[in-house]
Amino acid sequence: MKIGIIGAGQVGSATAFALVLRGVAREVILIDNNEKKAQAEALDISHATTFAYASKVYAGTYRDLKNADVVIITAGANQRPGETRLDLMERNAAIFKSIVGQIIENVPNAIILVASNPVDILTEYALKLSGLPKNRVFGSGTILDTSRFRTLLGEYLGLSSKSIHANVLGEHGDSEVLVWSNCDAGTLPIATLGTDINRPLTPEIKAEIDDNVRNAAYKIIDGKGATFYGIAGGLTRICQAIGTNENAILTVSSFHENVEGIKDICLSLPAVVNKNGIEKVIYPRLTDEEHELLRISAQKLKDYVQSE
Ligand code: NAD
Repeated sequence: MKIGIIGAGQVGSATAFALVLRGVAREVILIDNNEKKAQAEALDISHATTFAYASKVYAGTYRDLKNADVVIITAGANQRPGETRLDLMERNAAIFKSIVGQIIENVPNAIILVASNPVDILTEYALKLSGLPKNRVFGSGTILDTSRFRTLLGEYLGLSSKSIHANVLGEHGDSEVLVWSNCDAGTLPIATLGTDINRPLTPEIKAEIDDNVRNAAYKIIDGKGATFYGIAGGLTRICQAIGTNENAILTVSSFHENVEGIKDICLSLPAVVNKNGIEKVIYPRLTDEEHELLRISAQKLKDYVQSE
């Protein structure tokens, strides 16, 4: 695959590195306002290709994006300690205006994958700016939160996170919804499994896992100023699903005409991802309480977009 990355900061560079190490991309172009930084990151990552896969990694311009399969947008200001993702919006919207226009000029049929925060709102903004169909512009959404949820459940149950089926939906942010009613491993719902193996999912354990999923980014930012490895893994996973036409179900942020009665909104639901981008969305089966939490999450994003 040929993949362009706009923004060679911590997320962009970590993603380029992950794409190369996993052999997902044969060609990676890093584009950044700070050309010196993009060149240095590309050079450094290119030196890892000898130990991984034969790929070409270089710093370029928008013209180099010609025929790219995917363009990932990671450019933008970073979340400051204590700052919500929504607070970032104004700083990042201006940046997006110039970036999306230049992408479309050079790759009119691109798949645009948004990672910059607030990712749901910037995905909707990128979709509008691009004029592309809704299956070709989507965001990393809650792919990372879903991974955190699966990791914590796996650690508690003593199982590989890859064997846990669990999802986080809605906003990639404070109102996200952990779907406890539909988590399973092997043939069992995890609540049953937990009781069977003497690792019960008590309300206290569930509250602790919820807190560690919901507030993971704040904790990481407090410790090291930014999060980037987890999202780099998630973006690489999405590109792999596109590049191999995989039909993988991933929780990514895409445009929906109706989520729990809230119209025309971008947020994360389980989506089938393949060479077309979002092939289809699988609307979740939820409890009444989870439906309401998802509605609240959608309403929060809608209110934000309308206040702009
Ligand atoms: P960073 O500051 O390290 O990098 C941002 C880069 O964007 C910088 O190198 C900057 O020069 C570049 N840039 C700014 N304006 C540009 C423009 N107009 N054109 C090209 N490049 C431009 O930040 P980071 O840690 O890499 O984070 C980037 C974004 O990713 C932030 O919005 C952050 O909140 C988001 N993020 C998202 C997730 C997620 O799960 N979706 C996770 C972590 C971070």
